[in-house]
Amino acid sequence: MRNLNILLILLFLCPTMISGQAFQPCGNHWVHQQLENKYPGITELIDKTYENALQTNLDQSRDVLQIPVVVHVVFNDAEQNVSDELIQSQIDVLNEDFRRLNENASDTRDIFLSRAGDAEIEFYLADIDPMGNPSNGITRTETDKTSFVDLDIAALLAALVACGVDITDPDITDEQLECIFNEIGGFDLDAMKSSETGGIEPWDTEKYMNIWVCNMAIDFFGTSTPFILGFAYPPIGAPNWPEGTLPPEIEQKDGVVIHYQAFGRNNPANGPLAGLNDQGRTGTHEVGHYLGLRHIWGDGDCTMDDGLDDTPTAATNSQPTDATIPTCMEMHTKDSCLEDAEPDMIENYMDYSLESCQNMFTQQQVDLMRAMLEGPRVGLLDGLSNVLVSEEASLSIFPNPSTSQVFIETSLAIKSIQVTNAAGHIVISENGSANGYVDVSNVRPGIYFLHVSFHNGNHKITKLLKL
Ligand SMILES: [Zn+2]
Repeated sequence: MRNLNILLILLFLCPTMISGQAFQPCGNHWVHQQLENKYPGITELIDKTYENALQTNLDQSRDVLQIPVVVHVVFNDAEQNVSDELIQSQIDVLNEDFRRLNENASDTRDIFLSRAGDAEIEFYLADIDPMGNPSNGITRTETDKTSFVDLDIAALLAALVACGVDITDPDITDEQLECIFNEIGGFDLDAMKSSETGGIEPWDTEKYMNIWVCNMAIDFFGTSTPFILGFAYPPIGAPNWPEGTLPPEIEQKDGVVIHYQAFGRNNPANGPLAGLNDQGRTGTHEVGHYLGLRHIWGDGDCTMDDGLDDTPTAATNSQPTDATIPTCMEMHTKDSCLEDAEPDMIENYMDYSLESCQNMFTQQQVDLMRAMLEGPRVGLLDGLSNVLVSEEASLSIFPNPSTSQVFIETSLAIKSIQVTNAAGHIVISENGSANGYVDVSNVRPGIYFLHVSFHNGNHKITKLLKL
């Protein structure tokens, strides 16, 4: 009876679940807790990576950085099998938001306008798969799993009560989360990332940003209710990362996961998320985490922040807490930390405000993400995947076959040259080469691929035979 009473009370007290919104829009907290449980001290290491990057890496180049993306659709029914068009809309949203080309950029309030930044980061669906074959950057996997949130709802609700969570407030402290994890014995966040557990393995996580799209709703008394809208692993393994502390399974888990109803812009299946999370900005938010950003309110009160100076402090996130959807103007009145003399920055993609009210990253958020891309995530920028296979090759090489020097003829300025073998391994890499030739004297006879990156951001690949 005790449990039943608790459930009845919760049913009336839990407006976020009753109105169908996600219980916790972002599962970033859970990821950190899962990592910390397994590798005590790792979150401190991650924080240090960010601090070091901000202190030492601010004189970066301002090239536009391009990230190859693979989207893994893991579906149990037709609705979850999101269309190619919806996938492209998600890529479009990322490209708008990370270039500050979003239509609602003009909604940024004057007080924050000078802090808004163009991250100069772009995304494209990978043109080539890890085996070197042409690809559309999308995989589709049918699964038996009806949901990837493998939680007993009664046990979860009992854990929330036992851990003192205010069920009307989606904010959970680190201590409460640890308590919940212990009460429910943890749960496997990452089942969609392995074929053994109903999902699909990532493509090389150093060279592609993997996005899994799947169902992360729970059955809440007969109503399918989004539990987590998304989560992402933070950048791990900066150059200064202590030896022997890198989680070995990170290669199999790194990437972004998005609940299918929150995926893409104006998703026709967004159901209870309509008006709340329907602009594709769950993707923007999770990619922000993937590139090192934390929640703007610092997951704590006014004494906690996200480590950045140009985001105001906030005591809470800005997720609407009743079933009425507010306007952006109403959200603008939120000021949860009076000490900083600024309203809460509900415009920021790293808050939980309405997606239609989100419109900016700050300059320091931009700097941190770019530092991560030129640090622990640098593999994304020059991997095998970062190649556009072009029919009308404006690249020619001679002699081919060759025994030593191969000359490259092109009208564009060369940024770097790589030679990979048939297995995709790099055998020659010349960054910043502008010589227009590459010497293959020291590689074994066989078939290779010559990759040329140009300063304008283009890439070309061509086959090369070594005799
Ligand atoms: Zn988040």
